[in-house]
Amino acid sequence: MRAVRMTAPGVLELVEAPTPTAGPGEVLLRVGAAGACHSDLHILDAPPGLFPTPMTLGHEIAGTVDSVGPGVAGWSPGDHAAVYGIIGCGHCRACLRGLENQCRTVPVGGIGLSRDGGLAEHVVVPASRLLHVGDLDLTQVAPLTDAGLTPYHAIELARNKLRPGTTCVVIGIGGLGHMAVQILAATTAVRIVAVDTNVAALDLAGRLGAHDVVRAGPDTVERIREIVGPPPDGADVVLDIVGAQPTLDTARQVIATGGQLLLVGLAGGTLPVRPVADEPPTVPLETSVQVPFWGTRAELQEVIALARAGRLHADVQTFPLEQAPEAYEALRRGEIHGRAVIVP
Ligand SMILES: [Zn+2]
Ligand SMILES: [Zn+2]
Repeated sequence: MRAVRMTAPGVLELVEAPTPTAGPGEVLLRVGAAGACHSDLHILDAPPGLFPTPMTLGHEIAGTVDSVGPGVAGWSPGDHAAVYGIIGCGHCRACLRGLENQCRTVPVGGIGLSRDGGLAEHVVVPASRLLHVGDLDLTQVAPLTDAGLTPYHAIELARNKLRPGTTCVVIGIGGLGHMAVQILAATTAVRIVAVDTNVAALDLAGRLGAHDVVRAGPDTVERIREIVGPPPDGADVVLDIVGAQPTLDTARQVIATGGQLLLVGLAGGTLPVRPVADEPPTVPLETSVQVPFWGTRAELQEVIALARAGRLHADVQTFPLEQAPEAYEALRRGEIHGRAVIVP
């Protein structure tokens, strides 16, 4: 079969690879779609030794069951499935609570992270990682598993602050951000403020339910403050889906006293936390900061339910498998709107 593999650190290539077979408890999927995620660029850019090579990338996968291994119940050839990408140890304190995204034993274990992923014609996954998706289009399903699940989980963490009439600022309207806007619109009655440098992304946010849009520039903080009010008021919740220094600086300057900052993006910014009274605090009093990671299987089931109810649509740009390396370069240059999805 054809597969897009990281053959050495930083090197992504289309290669011929043996078609895998499903072992006990596993399922062989024919990949219908695999999303291209910013995290894959971090994997490619990571120092040697952190991730195995060669490894097929792709942790955002939807497919059709091709065959099932011994001992698998509940799945038959032809079934459509979403893949929950995380593989926790299954027995630590976090896994036992269903929080495999916080596994205490396996650092970042998963499909396309520590074993072959979905940028290929076929992929083998443990049957426990599959969720039924009914008749949803597989190019829509793939982005749900990460671009949908990650903001859904972050919003779940802030659910108690997202009361009717409060304000949530979403910074970065890309693959995850445009899903975040829809999840907020579908599951809360908050005022949604979308922030991005890109006008097309802001247009998309407006169509998907954002009440206000702010084009990021030198006056981003002032523009957001006009909407959320002056300190100690401000945004009740800020989702920073970029995580770069400028976005984190914006986030901490627009949050309300007692607000919640969810740092979702991995762009390498640092958040200073200094609770002092005699100079401007770096974050307002009573602020909570969380660093969400991906989500749980139960949350993915809810994300799929939102999509099946017609409340969550991924804005996708599709590429054939052989153009996957070009898709990642376009992602790196910031030229992808919504989510890039590879269709083998
Ligand atoms: Zn990802
Ligand atoms: Zn565990």
